[in-house]
Amino acid sequence: MSQAASLPFAYAAEPERPASHLFYVTRLRRPLVDRAEGIYLWDQRGRRMIDGSSGAMVVNVGHGNRNVLDAMKRQMDRVTFAYRLHFENEAAEELARRLAAKMPGDLDRIFFVSGGSEAVESAIKLARQWAVATSQPKRWKVITRFPSYHGGTIGALAVTGDLALTESFAPQIRDMPSIPAPAAYRDRDNLSMEQRGLRYADMLEEKILSEGPENVLAFIMEPIGGAATAALVPPDSYFPRIREICDKYGILLIHDEVMTGAARTGRYLGGDHWSCRPDIITLSKGIGSGYAPLGAMAASRRLVKPVLDMGGFQHGYTYAGNPLSCAAGLAVLDEMERLDCAGNAAAMGELLRQELLGLSRRFPFVAGVRGKGLLIGADLVADPESFAPLPKSLNANQRLLDLAYERGMIIYSRRIRGGGAELDNIILAPPLIIDAAQVGEISAILGDALEALAAELDLPVNR
Ligand code: PLP
Repeated sequence: MSQAASLPFAYAAEPERPASHLFYVTRLRRPLVDRAEGIYLWDQRGRRMIDGSSGAMVVNVGHGNRNVLDAMKRQMDRVTFAYRLHFENEAAEELARRLAAKMPGDLDRIFFVSGGSEAVESAIKLARQWAVATSQPKRWKVITRFPSYHGGTIGALAVTGDLALTESFAPQIRDMPSIPAPAAYRDRDNLSMEQRGLRYADMLEEKILSEGPENVLAFIMEPIGGAATAALVPPDSYFPRIREICDKYGILLIHDEVMTGAARTGRYLGGDHWSCRPDIITLSKGIGSGYAPLGAMAASRRLVKPVLDMGGFQHGYTYAGNPLSCAAGLAVLDEMERLDCAGNAAAMGELLRQELLGLSRRFPFVAGVRGKGLLIGADLVADPESFAPLPKSLNANQRLLDLAYERGMIIYSRRIRGGGAELDNIILAPPLIIDAAQVGEISAILGDALEALAAELDLPVNR
């Protein structure tokens, strides 16, 4: 009997299924989903999966929330779509008001979109139009970090630092300057974490000077790393220095909170951990929580006013601000507050982080456990001291993902190509309504999957 056959199910082969007309990244087939509730999904054969990654860090309030569904039904009975150039709608107005109240400083202008890449495109375009409207037409460069992930559209790819995703499109993408992401936990030098934070932030100033400050429009960063860096948390000193440098050169600071927003990290915004004051914030994923496609850009009124005065923001998407998505977003926000998702993410995140730390002691090839709230990451390495990557041929990230999947749990695992190095990593990011027993369930299945990975790839285990 093969190992796969002895497991609850083998996910890949479902030979009776007809060929699909759909195509995505790979030819991999997955079971047909049937229903979902809380942190679990069931396929059509009745097999249960734990959603250890909230889909793609989306379903923050959990699956099948009755209150959200009821609010959506009420909206559906009235109107699902009314184009924003023809009508205003209460759901969009109210959601904008509520989101604005959660934003720092004067970021009380909200622009709705349908997803994260659209939010990033919107941020880049608003920044540029602001520069034009304020007689700074030379400013166009958006400095980004490497590695980073900001979306799949061409404009968002221009500021995405992941060669595997951008290389093929290089001729079509306007090259943007980048600085290293602050992976201070991997540095082996005599500096303190705080000194390292300053060193990474100062790289922004060096880059601004080498690009010509008059040409630089903005700096975009994920306050806590997402897909490209697996929950990278910069040292505390990083944030105020970045703000200081942006102010010094009149450069806009864009926080991409598509993954970290909506309470994912234990505060409503990732940047709230450091009282950050960016000029623009992008949101998506958790604000719709998988109930409807929804994203938003929050911008300072200092930016929006000159753009509107000059004739308007030359940008927009058909589905932006549609009543159904906004009603879903509003109900998600209500549920997030009623269930104290931020508080639970902080408490359960700490528990899960401790569990992962325990696993990293047992499996020394799991290193660099990090994150905040329920966005927790680690690297899969050959050497936990030097963070030397595992050989690419082992395909450790995909194998771990598969081994967990076979055991009934979805996790997020990727290999990042950045700066010449390739590092496998994992992210744990279950819905923010998870309880302590379910954290234990995730830890047990992950331990089992890591045990299987170690046996398969001949990796060390401390017994
Ligand atoms: N920005 C960040 C930080 C993300 O994590 C993502 C998606 O993972 C995006 C932007 C793109 O969002 P979407 O896939 O909804 O276009």
